Amino acid sequence: MKRTIFPGSFDPITLGHVDIINRALPLFDEIIIAIGINADKKYMFPLEKRKQFINETFANEPKIKVETYTGLTIEYCKQKNIDFILRGLRNPADFEFEKAIAQTNRKLAPIETVFLLTSADTSYISSSIVRDILRNNGNIDGFVPKSVINN
Ligand code: ADP
Repeated sequence: MKRTIFPGSFDPITLGHVDIINRALPLFDEIIIAIGINADKKYMFPLEKRKQFINETFANEPKIKVETYTGLTIEYCKQKNIDFILRGLRNPADFEFEKAIAQTNRKLAPIETVFLLTSADTSYISSSIVRDILRNNGNIDGFVPKSVINN
């Protein structure tokens, strides 16, 4: 059985994340959306909310599970017996950043990182831009799934 984790902060989940997850569905038997908890990071949405947004978005998709983890992503993969890490690529900055992490992970564990290139119509979307719009009372309708809009 091919299982992957899609790690991230998901603060909040966006249509960019949804696009990557939907396109990864035919490639894997199970996708664990893993919300990483970093004690030093300040989040806009509490963990339970971020989890709820994702659960609601994929309520009808039995191949998707939502979990939380702390520490190294590869340690979490080993613990759960997961062989793949899924990541999305938007631009050269993502590539450089992800390349270093994926190569480091490969050095530490036999876990393969699978990259999907963002779709043209979601490539500009990021959680940080969504948070900026929210802070300035703007409209996030075109950027996030319904569960976040209805929040
Ligand atoms: P992190 O804190 O690890 O950057 P994010 O929640 O911002 O977590 O992102 C998780 C994953 O989703 C990353 O691989 C990121 O590149 C990918 N991602 C985010 N937005 C998009 C998008 N618009 N298109 C494709 N991938 C995306």
